[in-house]
Order: sequence, then structure tokens, then C-alpha cells
Amino acid sequence: IEEQSWKQLTSHLAEWVADSHKHTTDGHVASYIPELANAPSDVLGICIMDAGGLTVVAGDSDFRFTLQSISKVFTLIMALMDRGEAIVFSKVGMEPTGDDFNSMLKLELVEPGIPFNPLINAGAIAISSLIAGKDSEEQVARILQFFREVAHNPTLEINQAVFQSESDTAHRNRSLAYFLKDNGVLDSEVDDVLRTYFSHCSIEVNCTDLARMALVLAHNGVDPIRNQRLIPRRFVQIAKTFMFTCGMYNASGEFAMNVGIPAKSGVSGSILSMVPGQYGIGVVSPPLNRKGNSTAGVHLLGKLSQEFDWSLF
Ligand code: GLU
Repeated sequence: IEEQSWKQLTSHLAEWVADSHKHTTDGHVASYIPELANAPSDVLGICIMDAGGLTVVAGDSDFRFTLQSISKVFTLIMALMDRGEAIVFSKVGMEPTGDDFNSMLKLELVEPGIPFNPLINAGAIAISSLIAGKDSEEQVARILQFFREVAHNPTLEINQAVFQSESDTAHRNRSLAYFLKDNGVLDSEVDDVLRTYFSHCSIEVNCTDLARMALVLAHNGVDPIRNQRLIPRRFVQIAKTFMFTCGMYNASGEFAMNVGIPAKSGVSGSILSMVPGQYGIGVVSPPLNRKGNSTAGVHLLGKLSQEFDWSLF
């Protein structure tokens, strides 16, 4: 059956991409980070990779973009590997918020003022401060090294223009960080933790990198192509659970209903997703819908899920 669906996938993917491409006009490229506003609005690319390393790409699959919120999944995993579950969950909760990703609304609600989950900005900033390293520079070096390992691509780098642009305009993230500092959630200084956070959001990849990173999660922490364990199974389980409940901002319920697989999106219009036990998937299309997810990307994943009955339920 798997061989059959792979065949069907490779022969129809370009046609499904062309069909979903229409939806690029339904959204708007993110502009609150000025550098992201320069992204082209007519791009849609996808890469799907199977456990044997077979890869199918379609559309603008060479397009390069920054990970943005997708990076939060992997910094969460690093924090778990560096500090363990008990410490991580003393700094962030386990529940979706139903609010915007950069909201301050619920920061006072969970005792003792910790963010609801590690995928909203406040939670991801708290997680950044948990990454091992003597200073932000060492943290960022470790993050790059880990991301390169998971993507199996030693050339991954930080896009400095995006980093600078976000750094210069991040008034809201700064407020979140000061709030967390006041609540006693951050171990490090606000400027240092934000430097680490903006750096990992600005790591540049393409769809193939995303698909490879997703493949490792799809196989519970083992890179099936190299047959090498990179992440303990339990921490992948935690990461995938958060992707399912909070990975698509406050449209995570709708995505779970219509697509039914773990996914994480970023404001660059990227989505990392997977079919557990099988494929890693990387999608990018910069125009976003009202909830902040790639309009064409969500449409394409919905189509694929429908064709191949991917929903976990
Ligand atoms: N770096 C972005 C921010 O903090 C990430 C947001 C996102 O992709 O959701 O605003």
C-alpha cells in the first residue's frame, strides 16, 4: 500500500500544488517584521520525504525562508534534553490559549505567572532561556549545531537581515520578556534571551530541510535515513503533542479537524508537518490567513490528508 500511495503522490503532487496555488491570493504576507514583508506572495513549494530518503518536491521548492515559530519545536526539544521535563514544565504550561501567538492576556493566569505553553511567543522566550550555554552566543552556537544535525545540513545559517529587522521592531516580544522577567520565569537577562530567541527564529532553510527535520519527528527521534537516534522518544512525543494542540496558532483545533496530523507553522508562511511513522513534510507559501497560517499551505495539506486519509483519528 505504501508503495502505491508514494506512486500516487509523485504523480499528482504538482497538480495539487497548482490547484492550491490559487489560494495564495486569499492571504497577506506578514509585515510586522519589516524584512518578512519583502517575501514574494506567489510562492508555494513542498517537499515530502520518506524513511528511505526518497524525496518528492513540487512548486517553488528551492525557495528559502526563515523558520520563525517552527524553530520553537526544536528549542523546546533542546531545553528538554538540556534540563529535563521537571524544570521545563516549571517554566511553561501544557495548555493551548485560544489567543494570538504574541498575546499577553493570560500571562498572569497560570501559577506562578508562567506562559500557557512553549509554542506561544512568551513560552518560547522562556524556553530560550533554558538552552544550555554560558551566554547567548554559546546558546545560539549550540542551537545552530543541533538544527544542522536534525536537518542533516551543515550549511544552515542565521539570516542576519531578518534577525536585525526583528530585533529592531520587537517591542511586543520585549514587553513579553520583561513581563516574564518580573514574574521570575527567566534565568537570564532580557536582552540576552531575546538575542537567542530572534536568532533561532531567523535560521534560514528550504522545504527539503523542513521535510528532513519533520522526518526525524515522524520517526520518534530517529533519523531513519542514517538510522541514527538524535532525540529521545519521550521528548519527541512531548513536541508532537504540542504541535497537535497548539502548533497552528489558534486554528489548531480546525487544523486537527481538517488535516489531523501534527504540524507547526511560522509567520514566514512555512509549515512543518508529518505523517507519523512515514513521511516528513515541509511546505512554504508566504501569504497568511487571519489566524497567521499559510493559506495555500493549509489548503495543500488538507488536500493531501483527504487523498491519503492521513488523519490520525
Ligand atoms: N519571530 C516571530 C515572532 O516572535 C515568530 C512568530 C511566529 O512565527 O509565529 O514574532
